[in-house]
Order: sequence, then C-alpha cells, then structure tokens
Amino acid sequence: MSIALHGIGLGGGIAIGQAYILDKSIDDAIQHTLEESEINAEISRFEEALRNTRKELEQIRGTIPIGAPAELGAFLSLNIMMLGDSQIAQAPIEILKRESCNAEWAIKLQAEFLSSQFDEMEDAYLKERKNDVIQVLERIFKNLEGNKFDWQNQGREEHGILVTRDLSPADLVQFKESNFAGFVNDLGSLTSHTAIIGRNLDIPSVVGVAEARQLVRDDEIIIVDGIQGVVIINPDNLVLNEYRKRKKEWQESRQKLKAIRKEETLTKDGTKVEILANIEIDSDVEEVKYNNAAGIGLFRSEFLFLQRENNLASEDEQFEAYSRVVREMKKKPVTIRTADLGADKNPVWNSTHGESENPALGLTGIRLLLAEQGFFRTQLRAILRASFYGKIQVLFPMISSAWELKQAITQLEHAKNELREEGIPFDEGIAVGAMIEIPSAAIAIKSILNLVDFVSIGTNDLIQYLLAIDRNDESVGYLYDPLHPAVISTIGHVISNTNKAGKMISICGEMAGNPKLTRLLLGMGLRKFSMYSANILSIKKIILNTDINEITPIVNKILRSENREKIYELIDKLNEDVDTF
Ligand code: PEP
Ligand code: MG
Repeated sequence: MSIALHGIGLGGGIAIGQAYILDKSIDDAIQHTLEESEINAEISRFEEALRNTRKELEQIRGTIPIGAPAELGAFLSLNIMMLGDSQIAQAPIEILKRESCNAEWAIKLQAEFLSSQFDEMEDAYLKERKNDVIQVLERIFKNLEGNKFDWQNQGREEHGILVTRDLSPADLVQFKESNFAGFVNDLGSLTSHTAIIGRNLDIPSVVGVAEARQLVRDDEIIIVDGIQGVVIINPDNLVLNEYRKRKKEWQESRQKLKAIRKEETLTKDGTKVEILANIEIDSDVEEVKYNNAAGIGLFRSEFLFLQRENNLASEDEQFEAYSRVVREMKKKPVTIRTADLGADKNPVWNSTHGESENPALGLTGIRLLLAEQGFFRTQLRAILRASFYGKIQVLFPMISSAWELKQAITQLEHAKNELREEGIPFDEGIAVGAMIEIPSAAIAIKSILNLVDFVSIGTNDLIQYLLAIDRNDESVGYLYDPLHPAVISTIGHVISNTNKAGKMISICGEMAGNPKLTRLLLGMGLRKFSMYSANILSIKKIILNTDINEITPIVNKILRSENREKIYELIDKLNEDVDTF
C-alpha cells in the first residue's frame, strides 16, 4: 500500500530510491577492539548517549497527550530512574574497560547478562521487568548509533535514501561525503541548524516527518519531494511516473538558471546588488565559485570544531582551512564568523557548558568565546594570519551590546599585537563586523555601528529571540514568521540606520535566500544578500527581474501595515511575476 507523509521540505528537488533505516537494534551490535588510547573517548561517547537518552525520555514525559493512560508518566519516570542505576550507567563502562571493546558491544553483553538474571527469577512481576530494562538499553544503543554512523561505508548504493530519527548538524557535514540521494528525518524544524545545512546540501530532503521510521521498511522504494515536503512510501506506477516527470522538469529548470551565472547582478533600474555565499566547511567553496558568488558572507567556522572528539583544531590547522578558502576566493571577501558554539552546536569537549535549561539563552556565541579566551585567541590568530593571503573580514556572533562587542575587539587587538611582536604578517586593515541577531543589538544599533565596519543580520536567531520561539522546537514552528510586523520593522530599523551611517550591511540568515522575500528586502534598502550556494541563482534571477522604483510603493505599504493578512496579500502582489519554484 502506498502512503504519503508530510513534513518540512528542505529543497534539493526530488529523489526516488530505496530506504535505508539508520536505527538498528542491540542484536546487530558488532564487536570492535579498541586501543588503550581510545578507551576514554569511547566512555565519553557512551556517557553522551546516556545523557541524550535521558533528555529524550524527559521530553516524551513532558508531552504526554491528555487522555493517555495515567501509568504512562510513572512508567517513563521509572525509565528515567533506571538510567541512573549502576547496572545501566556503570556496568557497560566496566565491560568496555575490561574487554577494550566499543560501547555498543558492552551494552549488548550487559543486556545478555541482565536478561539471564531476569530469566532466573521466580517472581512473575519481576520477570516482566526484563523488557523494561532491555528497552532502556535499546534506547541508549540507538543514541549511540546515531552519533557514530559510518558515512563512508554505509549506504554507498547510488540511490539510497537515509531514513533516520534526526541528523545533527555535524552528521550532515558527513552526509555531504556520502552517496545517499536524499534523506528523511522524523524530527526537524524550519530554522534548526539541521534544516539550514540540509538546504545547503541541495539534496532532496524532508524533515519533521514524525512517524517516518515506523512506516518505512528497509529497502522499500520511497519518493522524497524536497520542494513540497512530501514523502511517498511504496508508490504505485502512476505516482512513480508522475514524480519521474516532475524530477526531470526540476532538473531542467535548474539547468536553465545556469545561463545567468556570469551575469552582473543588477536590478532592471541598474542598481548593483551583491549575492554572497554561506559556507560551513572549506570544501563548500567549490559550489560558491561555481555559482559565481561575490564573496563569502558567512563562514560558520564552528563546524571546524564540531566533529572533533577531544582535541581542538590547532592554530595551524585553522590557518590552513581559512587560508585555503581565502586563496580559492582570490580577491573576493571572505567573512569568517568566529566560532558560534553552544545550544545545538555543542562540541563534545564543551559538554560541561551543555547542561543549561535554556541553551539558546545561555553561554553561546561570543559569550562562550569570551569565557574561553585561550580558544578565542587561537582562532583570532589563525584568522589574522590567513588575512595576509586575501580579503578576510572577521565577524562576531551573538553580540548583545556595545560593551560585549568592545571586549571581543580588545581580544582581536591583543591577537594583532602578539603577531606584530612575533613578526607574523596579517592584513592591518582587516574589517570587523557584528552579527545583529539579538533584539538588544538591533534596537541599539547605533551604539554597535560606532565600533564596526559592517554588520550582518542573522534573521534566524533574530526571529527566535524577537518572537520567543525556540528555533529547534517543531511544536512552536508554526509561530516562526519572517513577516511578523515586529520582525520587518526591526530589520528596517537596522538597515536604515546602517545605510545612514555609511557602513556595510548584509543579511546572512535564511530570509536572504527566501525567494518570496527578495523584493521586500530590496525595497527596504538591502544590497547584500548572503545565502546557501544552492539558492544563489534563483535569487539572482529575481533581482535581475526587479525594478526597485516599481516595487517601492508596495514595500512601503508593507512597512506601514501591522495586519498579518494585509502583509501576506501585499507580499503576493509584490511577487506576482516571480517564479518561486
Ligand atoms: C542567524 O542566526 O540568522 C545566522 C545566520 O546564524 P546561525 O543560523 O548560524 O545561528
Ligand atoms: Mg545565529
């Protein structure tokens, strides 16, 4: 039987292929012998899986639907308690150390041991508890598997489609190297980092599909429509043929867009606009060059640190990565954002800071960098050294005040002094910028502008903090609204003040790559857009087809309106002749 599921499409067109379900069970565990030097990292991996399992169970307990059996809450509490029991939390670590084996194998041995203990019990009630314990171990096992998937060797078959509970931003970076034709996640919200990077991959993908893993079976044929956000399991021939046709049409329209790659980005009235690219890792530069971006408007440098277990990228390693990008981009600007870690981008080594109740309001971005000054200074030195080989701009994330920004600039000055004393060359005129993504910085934009050469609006976080919606929580995803009057007027305030001050401004959040919003932003005075490479040409096409004088009256009406329906109506009018495919 064919089933259609709906979720959030991350673009990338349409893929048709065989499902590969990531989650396996304890029975599939394979033994690996570890070197002495690998044991500690393996213990950390087990402990992380334990923490994730706890979070997962607490989340389920917190969202029990009304009308569910009363004992469900108690049952989940019991499961959570079990996670603290030494037979679950400690015994696998002892096995792991004793056998020098991987965590999965240690869990399997412990599950076998506990099973046999339960089987020997006489008491029927206690015997029954065996399943509860095994289920908890199974859940830890799945969390372990999720954070250690062999991307290089699994799913190599050309048209595999990965179906999984969730892929972390770090997983997605590895996904780029794999051969999968698409992916489907049970979890996911519109502006989570997983969604952002997923879009950047330009691979058919749908997230937030809720029950995908329950309904899809390994090797079953599925269609992933990343444009409409639809997943079709086991399609019949009629549906298959229809989607093959749509896939072809999509590919042809993408092909046509290539014709404008080399064209200068000018509006119909001759206004010059710059389209820059967002990248996560240095190898993304290939796509940037192919799409002929005017430079890199956002290098999310934190991805250099996310895949690492214990050690940090050294100054030299960072220097290599940054200078590679700068050299590749020739004289075009490369905006390196200093590591924006924390919340959903928490590296393994930072787990001590990861326990906050509200990570998005906690020690993230510049706050974490100022708290970890050694780490910050190392990164600044690497960026400065690379600046000698091209045009780098340094960008500080999550700035909340001029006072905080001054501290970041002081660190940059210290790093410059160190290099001067060591006789190491760097670009003395390096431009300095601040991300405007916290409402306080947007409101007090004038105090920020005094200190920087440029600003870049991070609309993903700005919307999160303005509307008080966790960007990673799909249950409030329906409230995420770039057209909320408060969002539009805050962005308008930042653009007009920055333009008045004669400083440079760009938007590097998802709004910049949304074809429905291009004309609105142009009409608001934005001239620099930074986005994932896959969207550059479709946004360029809209810019080439826009006359700013013609759109200005409609944009002004939008800026004056506080009525949601009216704003949406005017946006449709603005985009009447825009192809938002
Ligand atoms: C943003 O917040 O809009 C942004 C560009 O940064 P990130 O998505 O990496 O938080
Ligand atoms: Mg941000």
